[in-house]
Amino acid sequence: MLVASVIVDIATRALDRPFNYLVPSQLVPSAQVGCAVSVDFGNRPVVGYIIELAEMDEARCAAVVGDISKLKPLLGVLSEPYFDTVSASLATWIAHEYLCTLPEALHLFTPPGGSPKVKRVEGEWQLVFPGVGPVDDRWAVLTEEASGFVPAKNAAKQQRVLEALSCGGMRVVELSALLGNVSATLKSLEKRGVVRIENRRHMRGAMPAVCGACCAADQLTQGQEHALAAIHATAAGETASNVVVLDGITGSGKTEVYLRAIDETLQAGKSAIVLVPEIALTPQTVGRFRARFSDDVAVLHSRLSAGERFDQWDLIRQGRAHVVVGTRSALFAPVADLGLVIIDEEHDSSYKQDNAPRYDARVVARKLTEMRGAMLILGSATPSIDTLASCAGGAHCERAWQRVVLGERPSGQPLPDVQIVDMAREFKGGSRSMFSQVLVDALAGVYERKEKAVLLLNRRGFASFVLCRECGFVPECPHCSTSLTYHERSATLVCHHCGHIEPMPATCPQCGSPYLRKFGAGTERVEAELRQVVPDDMPIIRMDADTTKAKGAHERLLGEFSASEGGILLGTQMIAKGLDFPDVTLVGVINADTTLKLPDFRAPERTFQLLEQVSGRAGRADKPGRVIVQTYWPEHPAILAAAAHDRELFLEQELPSREELGYPPYVRLANVLAWGRNEQAVRQVITELTLAINSSMISAGQEWEVLGPSPCLLSRLRGLYRWHTLIKAPVGADISAVIEPVLKARKVNDEVRIAVDIDPDNLF
Ligand code: ADP
Ligand code: ZN
Ligand code: ZN
Repeated sequence: MLVASVIVDIATRALDRPFNYLVPSQLVPSAQVGCAVSVDFGNRPVVGYIIELAEMDEARCAAVVGDISKLKPLLGVLSEPYFDTVSASLATWIAHEYLCTLPEALHLFTPPGGSPKVKRVEGEWQLVFPGVGPVDDRWAVLTEEASGFVPAKNAAKQQRVLEALSCGGMRVVELSALLGNVSATLKSLEKRGVVRIENRRHMRGAMPAVCGACCAADQLTQGQEHALAAIHATAAGETASNVVVLDGITGSGKTEVYLRAIDETLQAGKSAIVLVPEIALTPQTVGRFRARFSDDVAVLHSRLSAGERFDQWDLIRQGRAHVVVGTRSALFAPVADLGLVIIDEEHDSSYKQDNAPRYDARVVARKLTEMRGAMLILGSATPSIDTLASCAGGAHCERAWQRVVLGERPSGQPLPDVQIVDMAREFKGGSRSMFSQVLVDALAGVYERKEKAVLLLNRRGFASFVLCRECGFVPECPHCSTSLTYHERSATLVCHHCGHIEPMPATCPQCGSPYLRKFGAGTERVEAELRQVVPDDMPIIRMDADTTKAKGAHERLLGEFSASEGGILLGTQMIAKGLDFPDVTLVGVINADTTLKLPDFRAPERTFQLLEQVSGRAGRADKPGRVIVQTYWPEHPAILAAAAHDRELFLEQELPSREELGYPPYVRLANVLAWGRNEQAVRQVITELTLAINSSMISAGQEWEVLGPSPCLLSRLRGLYRWHTLIKAPVGADISAVIEPVLKARKVNDEVRIAVDIDPDNLF
């Protein structure tokens, strides 16, 4: 007897385990691991997925899954396999590691677009996708008989149809658009065996045009040669780990290395997946891959419509595309024989998903490539501190990753000069503008020379810290050395790590100035102020979440900027990455401090990365670039180091502080969150959870630490109160194993929701 282990597609912790079903003999040929099936669950048909199949006799069945007569049969098999056994075990691993339910983890591997339902149509069980699913087109194609066929002299329409179909056939709708109504003509041609009508899978959405300017480089730089040599050795299994970190300054030609590595993967008959941050997935990026691999490239990201996404996914599953370029979740695309995963801009926080399953694509990619015998390339101009730690080996990583440095640009252009402007001094000098004189003058120069400028308004998340405009003082927690957050409701300053509260001071505790400002200006306001200080007809193109909402808006704005003479691109973080405009000669950072003062342990790292990335936008071609960084904190190591393009200088300060305060890469973190409408209930739940985790931890060891509960930085969000507890464990500890039993034992409580974020990206 064949027994199927099925994950029922209902995401509740109570049902979060596989259920066993008997495979009736008529379903045996089609039932495979990865298939969607319909099963009887609580007397109604629901969708499930087979994650395991086992042939067993009655005795074995009794021993393993229980009485065979109690097993229900599968009702029907609804699909071809969506995933294989390796993916099934990866899903199980994700569910454990990130403490999500099995269906949540499995959905990463099933067709995009949400949970399908099951329906009975004319006695057959069928899968119904919510709104999307495959769509067919009718195609007219010529048969073999067509070559010998001569249409009658008076049949002009037949002649024209045959001509139109002569190179590979055509969609019937297109044919009608071209020649008017052709249905009678097609019918008669079909009757004579000259034309065949076929249903072919319709592909929704047009692929971005191929970008012509990206032909292969003839001569690799020395760094690129080294990188490819390391990649060779790794692909051949000659190295200890399967990870190569491509540590290359902006514009050093990392993409060329990716393209060649992919080429070799394809030559070996394998597939490759390339992940890029959401906001860097521009037509420019995709075009470079399309130029090299044309139709072998599929694209997966969230700006595609549900139908387009389904079609791309299915193209991959059918084995018709071997290169996948996409955002985080493209990691789970159903490619055949995976050989290579590339994560570009690996430091980017979009690789961590901030809702369930809260996985980190970098960590899962490592697991995935290990399981499949593939290799992983992590590329960045500013690798994350965590990645650098894994290159150093030691406790973080048994087999240290290889790091290859690309220190030069093929153009020979050096990194731009960075000038720091002390905004507190500007303020003392009487200026109340958010633009320093230096920056205003530089913008005027760009205008005169008809070059281009990029202005970054650094606005990550929400900026609700307080800052003295005269001396730059920012109130900090006496216990945590992170900045305190201003809470408007109670006019207090709060530490979201430890709960420390103090009243909002009336004047600056450091210099006595009354100019204490809550920080954070919107792009619109900045645009209005900018208009006042630049020439009247200097084009300003604003790019932020608001102006890029519409489909295609992103591309349109970039096109406008590209066409403008002496224009300014003003934008948020989304402009810091991947843009490659040869005539940008000035980059201005309006407020470097915003990320720096975020009460988060990664704030200095993020600031350093952002400044380094945005600097890379200047002087890409033959004209040298210039960068102006405005800050209230000109002596901060992150700012000084970015100005000097000196990562070591930054790490010398940052690493000891992380170690002393107990943050990654020196510990592992888990953030336990609880939220709900009733603050009292939320506090009670998080307190109980914290106690339970505390006692579950006792057996885990001395080095574990529990901080909290305390209110989250975003203590109230959309009417919900939010509390959290932070858990610190030694590097390498199985932190999930300690928390999992606590979650399993918890009674369902509709009033208070909880989540656990393993290796969180931030602590908001
Ligand atoms: P990165 O991804 O490291 O920022 P890119 O791959 O975008 O860098 O390369 C920057 C520019 O240099 C691109 O215009 C690219 O076509 C060009 N380039 C890359 N490698 C070479 C090479 N070996 N010789 C000449 N030009 C190159
Ligand atoms: Zn002050
Ligand atoms: Zn504190």
